Amino acid sequence: MQQDYSIWEYEAYSIDWDICIIGSGITGLSTGISILERGPGTKVLVVDRWFIPLGASTRNAGFSCFGSPSEILADIGKMGEDASFTLVRKRWRGLQKLKTRINQQHACYETNGGYELFNKEGYEKVIDSLPYLNQLLSEAISQEKVYHASEVPSGIRGFSHALFNPYEGQLHPGFMMEQLKEKYLKMGGKIWTGLDIESIEETDEGILLCNKLSIPVKAKKVIVTTNAFARQLLPQLNVHGARNHVLVTEPIIGLQWKGCFHYDRGFYYFRNIGNRILLGGARNKDIENEETEQFGRNPLVLEALENFLYDHLTPTGRVKIEFQWSGIIGIGNQKLPIIKAISPRLFVGVRLSGMGIALASIIGEELTDLVLQQHE
Ligand SMILES: Cc1cc2nc3c(=O)[nH]c(=O)nc-3n(C[C@H](O)[C@H](O)[C@H](O)COP(=O)(O)OP(=O)(O)OC[C@H]3O[C@@H](n4cnc5c(N)ncnc54)[C@H](O)[C@@H]3O)c2cc1C
Repeated sequence: MQQDYSIWEYEAYSIDWDICIIGSGITGLSTGISILERGPGTKVLVVDRWFIPLGASTRNAGFSCFGSPSEILADIGKMGEDASFTLVRKRWRGLQKLKTRINQQHACYETNGGYELFNKEGYEKVIDSLPYLNQLLSEAISQEKVYHASEVPSGIRGFSHALFNPYEGQLHPGFMMEQLKEKYLKMGGKIWTGLDIESIEETDEGILLCNKLSIPVKAKKVIVTTNAFARQLLPQLNVHGARNHVLVTEPIIGLQWKGCFHYDRGFYYFRNIGNRILLGGARNKDIENEETEQFGRNPLVLEALENFLYDHLTPTGRVKIEFQWSGIIGIGNQKLPIIKAISPRLFVGVRLSGMGIALASIIGEELTDLVLQQHE
């Protein structure tokens, strides 16, 4: 149905924005903040199709991490040393920037460290490469001996070895996002939710964002930060969705361990939230069907997660699972994010893979550099 808008609506809302960002997840908000830091007074609008950013930013596990040993070694095997450490460096720098933008206490930020867990065979594949990894990490992030052998924390069963990283932390993604939103709004940015952008039309004067509500949204420049959903607007991009399931138990009396944990190249991850357990992953149990941009539940994956929970993590007996949900990450033919200009007016920052909390702030900075270069 064609909607008729009043003159008041046109004059108040059909503004010629300097920059419009599509996607109000951590990447969109971080980019908005970077733009306003560098250009106070810029008319910036962030739009999202949902009332809250429904993709990955409020649905993740809240690990503040930059890579576990086996994952980095696997990355080096696939993309080489330079690209792998560029990625680690971006994650580290992104986390440092993020920490300056949020009140860490209000975001429940805790540095309890992170562990990668192994069986004997897996450990033997990694342990000889540890000095090499630590050396490269000391160059990439200026921290010495990032990974070292440790005991498997008491209360966790079925693993023979652990490597500990004291620099890993954990936070509350919901509170983190609320703080980023408040910061962005205080700086003068605007957010419109409930606006599903269907297509992007470039004209000589600027860009028109076509949407179901037929509200004329015009901007001089547009940045797409829709991550896993980016191909709906820009089909040429090499990025697609991968669903990840998460479950959270009731509070468990006698839970002994805390921190962030990675297993099986990141396919399983878990942490404590106080004395609850958050467990996610097992996407590899049905990898084909989990390559989707649809939220939902996959019984095979949920069964694998529950088995893992009872085999390895709970102190005794069954516990109640109080929350379970899925989120969609953006992956592609390689792990480096896509940060580029599609045209002098249109920019994209997507494919944040499984560590977007770490990457988003730095992607926002890089997108801002690109957009400002085009002003000159
Ligand atoms: C289960 C799970 C666990 C994870 N755990 C961690 C972790 O512990 N640590 C970590 O660093 N990372 C983790 N990640 C990854 C991290 O959450 C993501 O990399 C990051 O949130 C991506 O942020 P984003 O802003 O780029 O995308 P998103 O958060 O997906 O935001 C994209 C936004 O674009 C909007 N949108 C899409 N299309 C349109 C359109 N056409 N019009 C308007 N709006 C649109 C969507 O509604 C959405 O709000 C996890 C992800 C998942 C799913």
